[in-house]
Amino acid sequence: MSDADKLKDYREKRDFQQTSEPLGEERIEKADGPRFVIQKHDASSMHYDFRLEVDGVLKSWAVPKGPSTDPREKRLAVQTEDHPLTYGDFEGVIPEDNYGAGTVMVWDRGRYRNIRAGKDDDGASMQESLDDGKVEVWLEGEKLRGGYVLIHTRMGGDENWLLKKIDDEEADSRRNPVSTEPDSVISGDSIKDIRERAEQ
Ligand code: MN
Repeated sequence: MSDADKLKDYREKRDFQQTSEPLGEERIEKADGPRFVIQKHDASSMHYDFRLEVDGVLKSWAVPKGPSTDPREKRLAVQTEDHPLTYGDFEGVIPEDNYGAGTVMVWDRGRYRNIRAGKDDDGASMQESLDDGKVEVWLEGEKLRGGYVLIHTRMGGDENWLLKKIDDEEADSRRNPVSTEPDSVISGDSIKDIRERAEQ
């Protein structure tokens, strides 16, 4: 599938005359290693959009409670449509009556590594991991670090996965970055700051 076809759902859901979200035709700088981003999205209900760069697009899950650093916590992650890579830099307000209406913040971002690829890169690719319903990634973010696993449980719905911290040296049951580090890693702004900036 070409990257353009992968973004068909993304484009069909949006009216780009109204929203300032990226169309996905913009160029993006080459990076060393695939990107991940977590966007805090104050839509009809607050959630965190967890996105991983895979083969030219951002694979995406909406996580209502946000990610935990405690390996005992499982968080529901509902898979959503692929997003363009340039979406990872989007911070702003999606206008009322549009798909996903509300404020979007870049809550965390960085590079990631596919753990299942193995040291010699002879293990499962990200696409194979997605097809298997088990994705394991090592995140190098500003707020989140270490291993996370996504499991396609389909419990309660076909799109339903669970996101869980792997019990490694970066696991920490005392941290709770969703509540203690609420602001943007790009601008330092809160959801309220971003909303007010858009209203000016
Ligand atoms: Mn969202």
